[in-house]
Amino acid sequence: MACLDGGTYPYRSVSNCSAESGLLMFDALGDVYSCWEEIGEPGKRVATYSADGLQFDYNVAAAWLSRFPGAIAQCAECPYALIHTSGCAKHARDSSGTIFASACESFQEYFPATLAFAFDQVEANLMSRPRKATSAHNYELMERHRQIVHSDDAEHVVTH
Ligand code: SF4
Repeated sequence: MACLDGGTYPYRSVSNCSAESGLLMFDALGDVYSCWEEIGEPGKRVATYSADGLQFDYNVAAAWLSRFPGAIAQCAECPYALIHTSGCAKHARDSSGTIFASACESFQEYFPATLAFAFDQVEANLMSRPRKATSAHNYELMERHRQIVHSDDAEHVVTH
């Protein structure tokens, strides 16, 4: 919504959550996890710690840092990849056995309707604003779009 309304683009990360960008959580038993939901499962830890320091399981830690849409075949071809960023890695592993899998969870079904709703709201907001010199061009574009959408015959819409 913010980006449709002139704000900055809100999706500026290719990772779905902090677990994929370096989050480390230390439990009281000497284990370190990337995913909140996996704390307490030693088989899922990414490192251990003690008075001797931090010891990573580099394969596990590297896997978390390597998950992004381009590393998952289905997501690499998805038009929503840079918005949905493959969904939750834990949910993907729970359903497929690996974090290198998509976790769509109906995103492809509900997002287009959500986007259409947001666009309608932005359009209604723009159309209700007084016209300003600085936004006259945007206003004209929105008006043309509105005419096309609501015209029975787009051929009759006058374009300049
Ligand atoms: S909607 Fe599905 S395929 Fe698309 S990025 Fe999300 S998880 Fe991947």
